[in-house]
Amino acid sequence: MTKIKPAKKKKPLQKTRTPMPEQDPAARIKNFGEVPLGYSPEQARQEAARCLQCKKPVCVDGCPVQVDIPGFVKLTAEGKFAEAARLIKRTNSLPAICGRVCPQETQCEIKCVLGKKFEPVAIGRLERFVADYERENNLVELPEKKPPLAKKVAVVGSGPAGLTVAGNLVLLGYDVTVFEAFHKPGGVLMYGIPEFRLPERIIQEEVNYLLRLGVKLELNQVIGRSITIDELMEREGFDAVFIGVGAGLPIFLGLPGEDLGGVYSASEYLTRSNLMKAYRFPEYDTPIVRGNNVSVIGGGNVAMDSARTALRLGAQTVTIVYRRSRDELPARAEEIHHAEEEGVVLKLLTNPVAFEGDDRGMVRRMQCLRMELGEPDDSGRRRPVPIEGSQFAFDTDLVILAIGSRANPLLTKSTPGLSLNRWGYIEVDEMGRTSKPGVWAGGDIVTGSATVIEAMGAGKTAARDIHQCLSEGSGVVRLWRVDTKTH
Ligand SMILES: Cc1cc2nc3c(=O)[nH]c(=O)nc-3n(C[C@H](O)[C@H](O)[C@H](O)COP(=O)(O)OP(=O)(O)OC[C@H]3O[C@@H](n4cnc5c(N)ncnc54)[C@H](O)[C@@H]3O)c2cc1C
Ligand code: SF4
Repeated sequence: MTKIKPAKKKKPLQKTRTPMPEQDPAARIKNFGEVPLGYSPEQARQEAARCLQCKKPVCVDGCPVQVDIPGFVKLTAEGKFAEAARLIKRTNSLPAICGRVCPQETQCEIKCVLGKKFEPVAIGRLERFVADYERENNLVELPEKKPPLAKKVAVVGSGPAGLTVAGNLVLLGYDVTVFEAFHKPGGVLMYGIPEFRLPERIIQEEVNYLLRLGVKLELNQVIGRSITIDELMEREGFDAVFIGVGAGLPIFLGLPGEDLGGVYSASEYLTRSNLMKAYRFPEYDTPIVRGNNVSVIGGGNVAMDSARTALRLGAQTVTIVYRRSRDELPARAEEIHHAEEEGVVLKLLTNPVAFEGDDRGMVRRMQCLRMELGEPDDSGRRRPVPIEGSQFAFDTDLVILAIGSRANPLLTKSTPGLSLNRWGYIEVDEMGRTSKPGVWAGGDIVTGSATVIEAMGAGKTAARDIHQCLSEGSGVVRLWRVDTKTH
């Protein structure tokens, strides 16, 4: 008689994501420590086991740098954490950063097939876990480098775009130097995104990895002021230059009272706090106004970061003033959730019209109008329209403007032959080539404010093209012409 084997019982699919532990809201607003605490190895394996290992992994289509998501998730499920991190690093040199700040919910995770019926695989949390595991257990291995080439590449700006170009080209044997205006590398990762979302040590360790690969770093070098791009190429002998200077110039509202003391741009406020460590004044030199009733104008990630920083600097109340409704808030859902959990109040459909100060010139009140939503504007979002006679005022002693930023003209003005669009961003072709021979650009200075992973994607494309042009031996070939105005 043939023995019938009992059918193997399939483990039921876990429908919801494995939760990640977090600092309690009441405790965390008193410190700058990271809010999400990361998975344990067991939690990571449990979450990774939810992946269906799709034959056509649509999640990868959502990733601007095409990380092998099912591949690294499978290794994670098998407990091969360092191997998983190394697999990610083949296409993404900054996984510990991306695992923390990438908007996965609108990129890879939104595409995950599991998300159609249940919660998608927590790809970002897993990426963060394996990168942290590899680093914390000293398992980081330097990849093999190609033999040195007699070619020098200058990278201007050490944000995610510049660091990606540097990391990709140094592996191919190029002599790469990164020039950074600030005294610390990392760009917005360092001076914009606060410690409680992205700790400084994570950024500096990712930068150290690039330095160990042989990338040279020159800090406190404002290109366009200390030396121009033309001088880098003609005098210093660089064969190619990549411009990744971001778009860090703050936008102001142009309202009465905007020049009062205690009215900051988010860029200045966050730079003082993050980069200059003003929250540890007087131990550090830089002071910062610590308000009791803080108002933050804007509804994006920068507004949420500013509001949550103000709470940690001791504010009693922090109010986000946003002219549209909750549905139009551009910040990530997770950031809004964390901000509200911590006590940040949202004042929606409200627009400031003036700031009023005391006799010492410090801001004390804000005049506002209530708004309603009209027809959609160019951005596709419904336009906020003021309600007649709705003006009202409230007390505030610190105002942070988080309404966007734009290109800083310092570098572009000192670089003849560089074509710009009407907003001052650098025009490039699909390979990141600018109108100036030998010069590429990518990241926020091309697209305007975008995301870390998009800046990295642009860096990767440019690095590939720089390599192609320089390795052809014929120098840099121009394939692209622009009709727009050049300087
Ligand atoms: C507060 C804040 C929060 C954000 N949160 C997120 C988030 O959660 N997730 C996300 O994906 N994105 C986020 N972003 C956006 C993201 O950080 C940017 O899109 C990204 O950093 C752009 O990278 P980049 O390399 O183009 O430029 P940047 O990161 O801006 O780096 C440019 C670097 O160039 C340097 N530089 C400028 N001019 C010169 C010069 N003349 N010479 C030498 N160096 C120069 C600057 O000092 C800077 O270090 C946030 C942005 C801000 C401001
Ligand atoms: S789409 Fe989702 S389930 Fe499929 S491979 Fe990607 S992460 Fe796994």
